[in-house]
Amino acid sequence: MPALGFIWLMLCAAATCADDIAVIGSRLWHGPDRTRLVLELSGPVDYKVFSLEDPNRVVIDLKHAHLGGAASLPIEGGGPIKRVRTGNPSVGVLRLVLDLLRPRNYRAFLLSPSASYPHRLVIDLTGTAPAATTSVDASDIREQDYLVVIDPGHGGEDPGAVGGKGSHEKQVVLEIASRLKRIINWDSRMRAVLTRTGDYYVSLRRRVAFAMGRGADIFISIHADAAKRRSAHGSSVYILSTDGASSELGKWLALRENAADLAGGVDIGEQEPILQKTLLDMGLDWKIRESRALGAHLLKALGKVGPLHSPNVERAGFAVLKSVDIPAVLVETGFMTNRAEEQALGQALVQERIAGAIFRGLSTYCDLDPRCPETVREADVYVVAPGDSLALIAARLGFTVADLKRINRLTTQTLEIGQKLTVPVR
Ligand SMILES: [Zn+2]
Repeated sequence: MPALGFIWLMLCAAATCADDIAVIGSRLWHGPDRTRLVLELSGPVDYKVFSLEDPNRVVIDLKHAHLGGAASLPIEGGGPIKRVRTGNPSVGVLRLVLDLLRPRNYRAFLLSPSASYPHRLVIDLTGTAPAATTSVDASDIREQDYLVVIDPGHGGEDPGAVGGKGSHEKQVVLEIASRLKRIINWDSRMRAVLTRTGDYYVSLRRRVAFAMGRGADIFISIHADAAKRRSAHGSSVYILSTDGASSELGKWLALRENAADLAGGVDIGEQEPILQKTLLDMGLDWKIRESRALGAHLLKALGKVGPLHSPNVERAGFAVLKSVDIPAVLVETGFMTNRAEEQALGQALVQERIAGAIFRGLSTYCDLDPRCPETVREADVYVVAPGDSLALIAARLGFTVADLKRINRLTTQTLEIGQKLTVPVR
């Protein structure tokens, strides 16, 4: 149990701590290895956290604090939390009691304001056993697979870029990444896993550790970011630069992305030992060269299904690409700040089209990569899978519905699972 109990944590100098801190908002996020409660505060607060048994509960006392209104604590419970109660055990102390369904470890830390966020107090509840690095769908990895780790950016506390209509990058990229994972897993040569599978934050470090810990062969981070210029549009592919960005936008994006941990919330004291793998020059050269080759194939495929923001593989100092020693790319699938792209990126067919293009680029790279297993493929036959529709298959394969119908002499839109479609190789 962390040694936080019963000591007031004086984390702000007396002069900067306002007399009365308001809790102005709260959010609850459920991840595979933790439930995270976030309290938004009007200023830094003195707090103590402790747990009690019989019944199991975690108590959070905030000194000189009060609820900022009825809307400030809308959470009722969820995950391991049965319910949340509030009270005032003594004058000026606001107490939150998390009634738990089962015993949990806890860890609490303050986050300073960043971007649009005010001061926050984060309380993480984890299992009684030490938290796994992450338990995300590791079960479906086979040792001999060519393992592709797909990393949907942001999540939970960190929405990523927010579009004019309110769409969140974290949601769009999770949908595209999930589609890409499904498509990759249809290819018998490869296996795909996601660094996050729901709406919770995973630190940049844990994303990298996840890939390296599983012996990944390829790392693809999926994003849909913002640009100051609203007209900026199209997809782009980035690889790591060790000596500055290849464009002003790349530099700006890398700064934004590398600040994700500030928005998503990472406790400095909790960070697992970093994979301080200093890449030997030869290893780094290989990684950069292969990342560029992979990026070029992805760009070519993406350019066939939509506009490109840049015709070249761009370079910038993205932290998430830094500590992996495998080919690693960051795909910007479009701009949430562009009105038309925000709308398009929310559509299933557009997401499938982008995921399909990334897969084709990856597949071409795999064909040339000696690490990728060889297999006998029916290159020009597509077997209809559950959930398929002609429109979805056409989007995934980069064809029009009319093309597919004409080539296969189909007279209706109806498909049967297992039905074979002829697909010209592109
Ligand atoms: Zn992003």
